[in-house]
Amino acid sequence: MTTFAADSILVVLETAPGPVLSKNHGELLGAAAGVGTPVALVAGPADSLGSLAAQASASGAAAVLTVALEGRPVVPLVDALQAAATLVQPQAVLVAHTESSRDIAARFAVRSRASLSVDAVGVFRDELGVVASHSIYGGGFSTTSTATFGAPVITVRVGSIEARAAAQSENITALDVAASGKPEVEVTDLKTLESTSARPELRSAKRVVSGGRGLGNAEQFVLVEQLADVLGAAVGASRAAVDAGFVPHAAQVGQTGVSVSPQLYVALGISGAIQHKAGMQTAKTIVAINKDADAPIFDIADFGVVGDVFKVVPQLIAALETAKDR
Ligand code: FAD
Repeated sequence: MTTFAADSILVVLETAPGPVLSKNHGELLGAAAGVGTPVALVAGPADSLGSLAAQASASGAAAVLTVALEGRPVVPLVDALQAAATLVQPQAVLVAHTESSRDIAARFAVRSRASLSVDAVGVFRDELGVVASHSIYGGGFSTTSTATFGAPVITVRVGSIEARAAAQSENITALDVAASGKPEVEVTDLKTLESTSARPELRSAKRVVSGGRGLGNAEQFVLVEQLADVLGAAVGASRAAVDAGFVPHAAQVGQTGVSVSPQLYVALGISGAIQHKAGMQTAKTIVAINKDADAPIFDIADFGVVGDVFKVVPQLIAALETAKDR
């Protein structure tokens, strides 16, 4: 029987079409390795579990628990997490702060009466156990949270962890899961939306170029897309740009949109309202172009250009293309 290290950290990994592990698996395992021994829970189609588990081992999972599941049904995943936690007795449970994993984390925390720390941008240890760090109030403050008893369940913001774990040899166990029979959400209609964009997915992109109301209209918003394409970046937007119909809501960055933590965030014609900053302030490098020198976005920008986006951005694109051709 597999035994698990006393400092095990149980990490719930997501899968993407392929199936392969979602891009965020490396950072979750990296975060876990910084505070203990990562044990991965991987659920997927039976014929892909071997390759998914191998991927998890290569990314640092000291042990991998596998469960055969089609799709991402919430209750069976919570059942699997409960079985895994009973077996491993982890010191913390880490999941991605994505829509589907947040649901699983919350249900598991309620079932197991564990504490839930949401939207962590880091994890570390103090003398009492695993602690989550958070960037709150639009990134204006940093704070920490931890459990007073039991293993905390922590959702980790995608893109916020740079550490990566060393590859481990494969140690794979098929998990026995007893179905809880808890009520599942009833899906009455399901439409699969196929994204045809060649651009990276916004939430996990390493580079994001976002446009705001300053772009003026949907036709002129194409400037944001042109710069994004030269940089190989995802396209984001402020709520004002979304509300004005320049781009769909899926592109909205901020408090009521997507939170991103890319290496590079370029804000074009965005004022920098606190609700926008809440979704992008943890970006490693922030570049802002705005014609108003007093725009609050410049308070958090690493590089700022006071100027008209319609004059500055075409020059920037031309300079980047010239640099590429060299
Ligand atoms: P504006 O504030 O109008 O700024 C436009 C900027 O463009 C200005 O700074 C201007 O100087 C500049 N500009 C204009 N023309 C040019 C030009 N030619 N060249 C260069 N610069 C130019 N907002 C979000 O973004 N995300 C959210 O998730 C979000 N959630 C919210 C939740 C709540 C509950 C509330 C109340 C608000 C929320 N908002 C959110 C809205 C937020 O308060 C701001 O209204 C919004 O972010 C403003 O968008 P903006 O910066 O594009 O527009």
